[in-house]
Amino acid sequence: MTTIVFVHAHPDDESSQTSGSMAKASAEGHRVVVVYGTNGDHGEVPEDLAPGETLVDRRRKEADMSAAATGTSRVAWLGYSDSGMTGWEQNHEPNNFHNADLDEAAGRLAQILDEENADIVTGYDWHGGYGHPDHVKLHHVVHRAAELAVRRPRVLEATFNRDRLRAFRDLALAAGQDFGFDPDGPMDDGNPMGTPEAEIHWQVDVSAFLEQRRAAMQSHASQVTDIGSFMAMPPEVFAAVFGTEFYSEPGRPPGMREGWFLDE
Ligand SMILES: [Zn+2]
Repeated sequence: MTTIVFVHAHPDDESSQTSGSMAKASAEGHRVVVVYGTNGDHGEVPEDLAPGETLVDRRRKEADMSAAATGTSRVAWLGYSDSGMTGWEQNHEPNNFHNADLDEAAGRLAQILDEENADIVTGYDWHGGYGHPDHVKLHHVVHRAAELAVRRPRVLEATFNRDRLRAFRDLALAAGQDFGFDPDGPMDDGNPMGTPEAEIHWQVDVSAFLEQRRAAMQSHASQVTDIGSFMAMPPEVFAAVFGTEFYSEPGRPPGMREGWFLDE
Protein backbone atom coordinates (compact mmCIF):
# COMPACT_ATOMS: atom_id res chain seq x y z
CA MET A 1 0.00 0.00 0.00
CA THR A 2 1.22 3.44 -0.96
CA THR A 3 0.19 6.57 0.93
CA ILE A 4 -0.41 9.60 -1.27
CA VAL A 5 -1.07 13.07 0.09
CA PHE A 6 -2.80 15.35 -2.43
CA VAL A 7 -2.32 18.97 -1.40
CA HIS A 8 -4.65 21.65 -2.74
CA ALA A 9 -5.11 25.38 -2.22
CA HIS A 10 -8.90 25.49 -1.82
CA PRO A 11 -11.67 23.01 -1.17
CA ASP A 12 -12.91 22.18 -4.72
CA ASP A 13 -9.46 22.29 -6.41
CA GLU A 14 -9.06 18.56 -5.77
CA SER A 15 -12.28 17.84 -7.65
CA SER A 16 -11.24 19.54 -10.87
CA GLN A 17 -7.53 18.66 -10.76
CA THR A 18 -6.74 15.31 -9.11
CA SER A 19 -10.01 13.60 -8.14
CA GLY A 20 -9.54 10.95 -10.84
CA SER A 21 -6.13 9.94 -9.49
CA MET A 22 -7.51 10.00 -5.94
CA ALA A 23 -10.38 7.69 -6.88
CA LYS A 24 -8.04 5.41 -8.87
CA ALA A 25 -5.52 5.13 -6.03
CA SER A 26 -8.15 4.43 -3.39
CA ALA A 27 -9.89 1.87 -5.64
CA GLU A 28 -6.53 0.06 -5.82
CA GLY A 29 -6.32 -0.07 -2.03
CA HIS A 30 -3.86 2.77 -1.45
CA ARG A 31 -4.27 5.33 1.31
CA VAL A 32 -5.36 8.70 -0.04
CA VAL A 33 -5.16 11.87 2.05
CA VAL A 34 -6.18 15.38 0.97
CA VAL A 35 -4.80 18.54 2.57
CA TYR A 36 -6.13 22.05 1.92
CA GLY A 37 -3.93 25.10 2.38
CA THR A 38 -6.85 27.46 2.90
CA ASN A 39 -10.32 27.27 4.36
CA GLY A 40 -11.85 28.65 1.16
CA ASP A 41 -13.33 31.54 3.13
CA HIS A 42 -13.49 33.93 0.16
CA GLY A 43 -15.45 31.57 -2.07
CA GLU A 44 -19.00 32.13 -3.22
CA VAL A 45 -21.44 32.36 -0.32
CA PRO A 46 -24.48 30.13 -0.93
CA GLU A 47 -27.94 31.49 -0.19
CA ASP A 48 -29.02 28.44 1.77
CA LEU A 49 -26.63 28.68 4.75
CA ALA A 50 -28.37 27.40 7.89
CA PRO A 51 -28.64 29.77 10.90
CA GLY A 52 -25.19 29.92 12.47
CA GLU A 53 -23.57 28.08 9.57
CA THR A 54 -20.57 29.88 8.02
CA LEU A 55 -19.14 29.52 4.54
CA VAL A 56 -16.14 27.73 6.08
CA ASP A 57 -18.48 25.25 7.82
CA ARG A 58 -20.18 24.60 4.50
CA ARG A 59 -16.94 24.16 2.60
CA ARG A 60 -15.66 21.67 5.17
CA LYS A 61 -18.82 19.62 4.75
CA GLU A 62 -18.44 19.80 1.00
CA ALA A 63 -14.80 18.68 1.24
CA ASP A 64 -15.90 15.68 3.34
CA MET A 65 -18.51 14.78 0.72
CA SER A 66 -15.92 15.02 -2.03
CA ALA A 67 -13.57 12.79 -0.04
CA ALA A 68 -16.33 10.22 0.34
CA ALA A 69 -16.83 10.27 -3.45
CA THR A 70 -13.15 9.52 -4.15
CA GLY A 71 -12.51 7.09 -1.27
CA THR A 72 -10.18 9.57 0.42
CA SER A 73 -9.38 8.44 3.98
CA ARG A 74 -8.46 11.72 5.62
CA VAL A 75 -9.20 15.40 5.06
CA ALA A 76 -6.73 17.79 6.72
CA TRP A 77 -6.44 21.58 6.78
CA LEU A 78 -3.41 23.85 7.12
CA GLY A 79 -5.87 26.47 8.38
CA TYR A 80 -4.93 29.61 6.43
CA SER A 81 -7.41 32.03 4.97
CA ASP A 82 -7.94 32.43 1.27
CA SER A 83 -5.77 35.16 -0.34
CA GLY A 84 -8.18 35.95 -3.19
CA MET A 85 -7.14 36.45 -6.80
CA THR A 86 -4.25 38.78 -7.71
CA GLY A 87 -5.10 42.38 -6.83
CA TRP A 88 -7.93 41.60 -4.44
CA GLU A 89 -8.00 43.47 -1.13
CA GLN A 90 -7.58 40.27 0.88
CA ASN A 91 -4.11 39.75 -0.70
CA HIS A 92 -2.89 41.85 2.22
CA GLU A 93 -4.59 40.04 5.10
CA PRO A 94 -1.85 38.85 7.46
CA ASN A 95 -3.33 35.40 8.17
CA ASN A 96 -3.80 34.42 4.55
CA PHE A 97 -1.91 31.60 2.86
CA HIS A 98 -0.09 33.87 0.41
CA ASN A 99 1.46 35.88 3.26
CA ALA A 100 2.23 32.88 5.47
CA ASP A 101 5.83 32.26 6.47
CA LEU A 102 7.07 29.52 4.11
CA ASP A 103 8.68 27.36 6.78
CA GLU A 104 5.73 27.69 9.12
CA ALA A 105 3.24 26.62 6.45
CA ALA A 106 5.58 23.87 5.19
CA GLY A 107 6.07 22.75 8.80
CA ARG A 108 2.32 22.23 9.21
CA LEU A 109 2.26 20.14 6.05
CA ALA A 110 5.44 18.23 6.96
CA GLN A 111 3.79 17.20 10.23
CA ILE A 112 0.96 15.60 8.23
CA LEU A 113 3.45 13.94 5.86
CA ASP A 114 5.22 12.50 8.92
CA GLU A 115 1.99 11.33 10.56
CA GLU A 116 1.10 9.57 7.32
CA ASN A 117 4.65 8.41 6.52
CA ALA A 118 3.74 9.64 3.05
CA ASP A 119 5.28 7.98 0.01
CA ILE A 120 4.10 10.62 -2.47
CA VAL A 121 2.92 14.20 -2.13
CA THR A 122 1.36 16.20 -4.94
CA GLY A 123 1.35 19.99 -5.30
CA TYR A 124 1.16 22.39 -8.24
CA ASP A 125 3.51 23.62 -10.96
CA TRP A 126 5.69 26.72 -10.42
CA HIS A 127 2.90 29.18 -11.23
CA GLY A 128 0.12 27.23 -9.60
CA GLY A 129 -1.39 26.31 -12.96
CA TYR A 130 -2.99 29.70 -13.52
CA GLY A 131 -1.28 32.14 -11.20
CA HIS A 132 -3.70 32.35 -8.28
CA PRO A 133 -1.55 33.55 -5.32
CA ASP A 134 -2.66 30.63 -3.11
CA HIS A 135 -1.82 28.12 -5.83
CA VAL A 136 1.63 29.63 -6.41
CA LYS A 137 2.23 29.53 -2.66
CA LEU A 138 1.16 25.92 -2.55
CA HIS A 139 3.87 24.99 -5.05
CA HIS A 140 6.54 26.33 -2.70
CA VAL A 141 4.97 24.95 0.47
CA VAL A 142 4.76 21.40 -0.92
CA HIS A 143 8.39 21.35 -2.08
CA ARG A 144 9.60 22.77 1.22
CA ALA A 145 7.46 20.35 3.26
CA ALA A 146 8.95 17.42 1.33
CA GLU A 147 12.41 18.63 2.40
CA LEU A 148 11.30 18.99 6.02
CA ALA A 149 9.61 15.59 6.26
CA VAL A 150 11.48 12.91 8.19
CA ARG A 151 11.21 10.60 5.18
CA ARG A 152 11.29 12.58 1.96
CA PRO A 153 8.36 11.63 -0.29
CA ARG A 154 8.28 11.71 -4.09
CA VAL A 155 6.94 15.08 -5.19
CA LEU A 156 4.60 15.40 -8.16
CA GLU A 157 3.03 18.57 -9.49
CA ALA A 158 -0.53 18.47 -10.77
CA THR A 159 -0.77 20.65 -13.86
CA PHE A 160 -2.78 21.34 -17.00
CA ASN A 161 -1.56 20.30 -20.44
CA ARG A 162 -1.47 23.63 -22.25
CA ASP A 163 -1.03 22.08 -25.71
CA ARG A 164 -4.01 19.83 -25.20
CA LEU A 165 -6.16 22.69 -23.89
CA ARG A 166 -5.23 24.74 -26.96
CA ALA A 167 -6.30 21.86 -29.20
CA PHE A 168 -9.65 21.64 -27.36
CA ARG A 169 -10.10 25.37 -27.74
CA ASP A 170 -9.34 25.24 -31.46
CA LEU A 171 -11.91 22.46 -31.88
CA ALA A 172 -14.50 24.44 -29.93
CA LEU A 173 -13.88 27.60 -31.92
CA ALA A 174 -14.02 25.69 -35.20
CA ALA A 175 -17.43 24.37 -34.11
CA GLY A 176 -18.57 27.89 -33.29
CA GLN A 177 -18.52 27.25 -29.52
CA ASP A 178 -17.11 29.43 -26.78
CA PHE A 179 -14.24 27.74 -24.88
CA GLY A 180 -14.35 30.26 -22.06
CA PHE A 181 -10.66 31.13 -21.91
CA ASP A 182 -7.44 31.12 -23.91
CA PRO A 183 -4.85 28.70 -22.44
CA ASP A 184 -2.10 30.86 -23.93
CA GLY A 185 -3.12 33.52 -21.48
CA PRO A 186 -2.62 35.83 -19.86
CA MET A 187 -3.88 34.11 -16.70
CA ASP A 188 -4.08 35.62 -13.21
CA ASP A 189 -0.32 36.32 -12.99
CA GLY A 190 0.18 37.17 -16.69
CA ASN A 191 1.54 33.72 -17.60
CA PRO A 192 -0.17 31.19 -19.84
CA MET A 193 -2.17 28.29 -18.36
CA GLY A 194 -0.51 25.11 -17.09
CA THR A 195 2.55 23.46 -18.61
CA PRO A 196 3.67 22.69 -22.17
CA GLU A 197 3.35 18.97 -22.89
CA ALA A 198 7.13 18.71 -23.31
CA GLU A 199 7.57 19.50 -19.60
CA ILE A 200 4.91 17.07 -18.35
CA HIS A 201 5.92 13.59 -17.18
CA TRP A 202 2.70 11.71 -16.48
CA GLN A 203 -0.52 11.45 -18.46
CA VAL A 204 -2.88 9.48 -16.25
CA ASP A 205 -5.96 7.86 -17.75
CA VAL A 206 -8.78 8.32 -15.25
CA SER A 207 -11.62 7.72 -17.71
CA ALA A 208 -12.85 4.82 -15.56
CA PHE A 209 -13.44 7.27 -12.70
CA LEU A 210 -15.51 9.97 -14.38
CA GLU A 211 -18.50 9.30 -12.13
CA GLN A 212 -16.39 9.80 -9.02
CA ARG A 213 -14.93 12.98 -10.54
CA ARG A 214 -18.38 14.32 -11.25
CA ALA A 215 -19.57 13.42 -7.73
CA ALA A 216 -16.51 15.14 -6.23
CA MET A 217 -17.27 18.30 -8.22
CA GLN A 218 -20.96 18.20 -7.34
CA SER A 219 -19.99 18.01 -3.66
CA HIS A 220 -18.78 21.61 -3.93
CA ALA A 221 -22.22 22.88 -4.92
CA SER A 222 -21.73 26.23 -3.15
CA GLN A 223 -19.09 27.20 -5.73
CA VAL A 224 -21.55 27.68 -8.56
CA THR A 225 -19.36 29.73 -10.92
CA ASP A 226 -16.35 27.41 -10.87
CA ILE A 227 -18.06 24.07 -10.64
CA GLY A 228 -21.25 24.94 -12.54
CA SER A 229 -19.39 25.41 -15.83
CA PHE A 230 -17.92 21.89 -15.54
CA MET A 231 -21.30 20.41 -14.65
CA ALA A 232 -22.84 22.14 -17.67
CA MET A 233 -20.48 20.40 -20.13
CA PRO A 234 -22.07 17.84 -22.45
CA PRO A 235 -21.02 14.33 -21.28
CA GLU A 236 -18.62 13.79 -24.20
CA VAL A 237 -16.87 17.10 -23.53
CA PHE A 238 -16.68 16.34 -19.79
CA ALA A 239 -15.13 12.95 -20.61
CA ALA A 240 -12.60 14.51 -23.00
CA VAL A 241 -11.57 17.23 -20.54
CA PHE A 242 -11.63 15.24 -17.29
CA GLY A 243 -10.74 11.73 -18.48
CA THR A 244 -7.04 12.51 -18.18
CA GLU A 245 -4.90 14.11 -15.47
CA PHE A 246 -1.39 15.48 -15.92
CA TYR A 247 1.56 15.66 -13.55
CA SER A 248 5.14 16.84 -13.74
CA GLU A 249 7.73 15.14 -11.58
CA PRO A 250 10.75 17.42 -11.05
CA GLY A 251 14.04 15.61 -11.46
CA ARG A 252 12.66 13.03 -13.86
CA PRO A 253 14.13 12.85 -17.38
CA PRO A 254 11.98 14.75 -19.90
CA GLY A 255 9.21 13.08 -21.82
CA MET A 256 5.53 12.57 -21.13
CA ARG A 257 4.61 9.00 -20.40
CA GLU A 258 1.09 7.62 -20.56
CA GLY A 259 0.90 5.63 -17.35
CA TRP A 260 0.26 5.60 -13.65
CA PHE A 261 2.86 7.05 -11.34
CA LEU A 262 2.09 4.40 -8.72
CA ASP A 263 3.32 1.67 -11.07
CA GLU A 264 6.92 2.55 -10.34
ZN1 LIG B 1 -8.05 27.16 -5.87
